[in-house]
Amino acid sequence: MPETGPTPATVPDPDTATDAAPAPSWQPSEGTRRHFMARAHLDSIVLHLVREFEDPTAITNDLDLDQLWRRPEAEPLAAIRATLAIRNAAATLLHEHIGRARGAGHTWADLAVVLDVEKAADEARLLVGEAAFNWVTTGHIDDPRQRWRDYPTLRWTCATCGQRITDHGPVDPHPGDMERGHASDCERHRAALSAWDAETETW
Ligand SMILES: [Zn+2]
Repeated sequence: MPETGPTPATVPDPDTATDAAPAPSWQPSEGTRRHFMARAHLDSIVLHLVREFEDPTAITNDLDLDQLWRRPEAEPLAAIRATLAIRNAAATLLHEHIGRARGAGHTWADLAVVLDVEKAADEARLLVGEAAFNWVTTGHIDDPRQRWRDYPTLRWTCATCGQRITDHGPVDPHPGDMERGHASDCERHRAALSAWDAETETW
């Protein structure tokens, strides 16, 4: 009768084991590894913030030579304050990097890929760029007109003309409506307008 169930783990025999170890059958995804690495770094930033801003008793086992084998641990309320500060700082930083990406010429469709909203866009029957813009400006994928009285915008600096741009998102595809504030001689904006004219000529 054939054996069923998982193969039992075997301990390699040190006399016969070679360097060519068999490939592990399971590898964490890149997303999982990214998450756990970020998590490990954040744990240490939480401790830094608690040491800086809280009472010294807010960390147990900290810098105690007799307790070096124990992980330092922040008191929960102090840890929440520190983690909240990190989360708010990360949200601000994310918007700054998104603004830089738009300033450098990356489209909302490009951003949809790195923001991982393509599947959600498909489910909401939106263009991926639209979904990315909605998520960045409102925190929701779906059409902001259902929630907000005003159209949301994102402000960033154009790396080509140096002007502050008000980005209305890819809902209205005309470049002049989508990005307002480029210099009249901005090469990037002129190229977008020419591309738009060339495309609409074929309609
Ligand atoms: Zn410009």
